[in-house]
Amino acid sequence: MRKITFVLLLCLTTNLFAQEYFLKKYQPFNQDIPSPEEFLGYGIGERHTRHDLIVAYFKKLAELSPRVSFAEYGKTHEGRILSILTISTPENLANITELKRQHLAFTDPSTNASNYNDVPVFINLAYNVHGNEPSSSEAALLTAYTFAASEAGEIIKYLNESVIFIDPTINPDGRDRHTQWANSYQGSPLVADPQDAEHDEYWPGGRTNHYWFDLNRDWLLAINPESRGKLTWYHQWYPNVVTDFHEMGSQSSYFFEPMKANGSLNPIMPKENYVDLNNMFGAYFAKALDSIGSLYFTKEVFDGTYPGYGSSYPDLQGGLGLLFEQASSRGHKQTTAFGEITFPFTIRNQYTSSITTVRAAVENKTYLRKYQQDFFKSALSRASASKIKGYTFGDDYDQNRVKAFIDKLLLHKVKVFQNGDKSFFVPTRQPQYRMVQTVFETYSKYRDSVFYDASAWSLANFYNINYKVASRETQGTPVTAVDQLSTVTPVGRSEYAYLVDWDDYNAPAVLHHLKSEGLVVSSSFRSFSSTTNAGNKSFNYGTLLIPVKLQKKDSGEVFRILSEAQQKYQVPMYAVNTGYNLSGIDLGSRFVRPVTKPKAAMLIGEGVRSYEAGEIWHLLDTRVHMPITKIPIRNFRRVNLDKYNTLVMVSGSYSFDDKGLEKIKEWVEKGNTLITIGTASKWAIDKKLVKESLVSEEKDSTAVAERKPYGDAGENLGKESVGGIIVQTELDLTHPLGFGYRKALLPVYKNNTVWLKPSKNEYSTVAQYADNPLIDGFITDKNRDKFLKNSASLIVSPIGGGRVVMFADNPNFRGSWYGTNRLFLNALFLGNHINVPK
Ligand SMILES: [Zn+2]
Repeated sequence: MRKITFVLLLCLTTNLFAQEYFLKKYQPFNQDIPSPEEFLGYGIGERHTRHDLIVAYFKKLAELSPRVSFAEYGKTHEGRILSILTISTPENLANITELKRQHLAFTDPSTNASNYNDVPVFINLAYNVHGNEPSSSEAALLTAYTFAASEAGEIIKYLNESVIFIDPTINPDGRDRHTQWANSYQGSPLVADPQDAEHDEYWPGGRTNHYWFDLNRDWLLAINPESRGKLTWYHQWYPNVVTDFHEMGSQSSYFFEPMKANGSLNPIMPKENYVDLNNMFGAYFAKALDSIGSLYFTKEVFDGTYPGYGSSYPDLQGGLGLLFEQASSRGHKQTTAFGEITFPFTIRNQYTSSITTVRAAVENKTYLRKYQQDFFKSALSRASASKIKGYTFGDDYDQNRVKAFIDKLLLHKVKVFQNGDKSFFVPTRQPQYRMVQTVFETYSKYRDSVFYDASAWSLANFYNINYKVASRETQGTPVTAVDQLSTVTPVGRSEYAYLVDWDDYNAPAVLHHLKSEGLVVSSSFRSFSSTTNAGNKSFNYGTLLIPVKLQKKDSGEVFRILSEAQQKYQVPMYAVNTGYNLSGIDLGSRFVRPVTKPKAAMLIGEGVRSYEAGEIWHLLDTRVHMPITKIPIRNFRRVNLDKYNTLVMVSGSYSFDDKGLEKIKEWVEKGNTLITIGTASKWAIDKKLVKESLVSEEKDSTAVAERKPYGDAGENLGKESVGGIIVQTELDLTHPLGFGYRKALLPVYKNNTVWLKPSKNEYSTVAQYADNPLIDGFITDKNRDKFLKNSASLIVSPIGGGRVVMFADNPNFRGSWYGTNRLFLNALFLGNHINVPK
């Protein structure tokens, strides 16, 4: 009995403390609705809250409060629920369809709605895109509770004048990875020492999602279900204000916008956004944080130019995206140079900014609505004034890559028209004109040159889309879904052989499928033309040959396997009845070589760049449907490499001892393929694994350095890093790594300073940077003239009977480089068949 009283008392004190610390200002609360503490059984900030409990609490609020409704907008890779809580007055919620209609009228440039102040403002409070920046989801619980249960006059006013959409966790898979870590290492009493395990997660950490993608870069690229679900939701609601809550290093205070002024000058954004609106909202955040004694800073850092951030994409939709960065307690309590920082303290700042966002939005409702209306109207007027009337694009050989590109356009609500079997048109005169610009236009001039992230994002180049500027609008059929686009002609049955185009994006998936079914498949190392069931046709390097009589299966079974692969991957396939070709080599040529199935492994773990590793894992899982063994680097010594014929090392800092290095070398010499990317290629050269070299700067050790102001050092050094640019390469189309390409010019993404010197071997340099290589983004003159112009992008170097395929540039960047994925997949599927002539 006594014990029970004690427990009750303890709960009460905790609760009172929580009420006092977080919620005092908004008392009284509806007693019928449990606070997060009452629901969870612990005070906010005492533990890290699991995502399923957050969802359960939100469902409970929807069950108990007439102000709240709950919806799911998708599921993560690991099956966690992506959710949105809609909060307003019961009257507004009952009338939501009509309010939505009135709200959306402001995004439609063909109407002239003027009831700015009558429609509630639409606010999306979104939290925790980086899983190991956990304070914001806890703040989401407090915010949801406040709006669901507070009876304070101020809150009632906000509910009357707004519809609030709360997304508590944009990245639940990453959040739970970190939550598990922080809770399982939590000490009692808490350990504030930064060297404690609680404050230092193991690789890859909780920042990213299941495939180790940074979801705060994925809003433009739309590769992952988290972003795809959110974008679909977004384009139904077009909120006026959207928050994006983060945490930064512990040795700091708090950041809110405005951001770094010059860096934020996205050339296509209205100035009202990043000047007027940001200053207007900034004043509210300053006042609110002053009132609780929290320090903060603005303007010094961060830029909103890259349109794939959660705080910049809304800007491209006539809304206001707001970035917040809280110094992290990473764990429950940590000692910093500024004193101790606690989890509850970080949560309180995020909670304060949440409520303040609603306040600022409600008090500037008319301004925000007019702004959004002008934004879409000006899209049409700016497009009308432009000489560019649209973009025509298409591809004769690879429909699946084009489809993937169109899929992204449609997700962003860009209008696409089909004006020929394989030809498409995107007009500039449409409400999403700025998105059209984002996708097709390239920029090389910026006032500022130090970017927080990429300085190039013309999506058309990511997909290696061949497009032309059109000076007049063309008519066509509106494309509403990619599956309405052309499908392949079903493969005919043959008793002799089948040919499969290697040009199609999905061809490697087909090859893997056929090999998994046990078929003998060859790759043609020459081009040719032959008579097929679909008429005479010319075939490119890399075309797959499946001879019927060589198989262990009967011809009916072979036909069934091919048809199945074609249905699944929509790749052009042909039946042929003779090996005697119309031109070029015949089908029995020694240049048509049987391919082995890759047995692939990739090193992962501490020191390895998780993004690059995750991109490969994602590519193979979701598009090729091929397994790859992820070998933790800590086990490398005892791993038997002979189980594999292909090993991938992405960028990272590798610190093998001589034995480890020898182990890799001996394994390659046996005839296997090592694929290195970015700094792993530099590593292979530095460790003399290969006889290649880097382009380096000759330093004069006697020269006296030019004096520069100390205060400029950060900017000066920042410029020399290559933040992310798109550059043109020239590809050898006759090389197995270049198979499946029809054009020698290929855009690649460069975001490192790995400068490979073209090989001394005349057959080793597969891709070299073209003359005038810069397509999009910022690079210093020095980097361009001294390094880029003299470097290679892709080299194959022999070791014994094997080879190292060295990529300077990541061909799988952010899961979005459909144009260069093929280079990597060629290395994986054909690497073991490359013999470098010596
Ligand atoms: Zn973050």
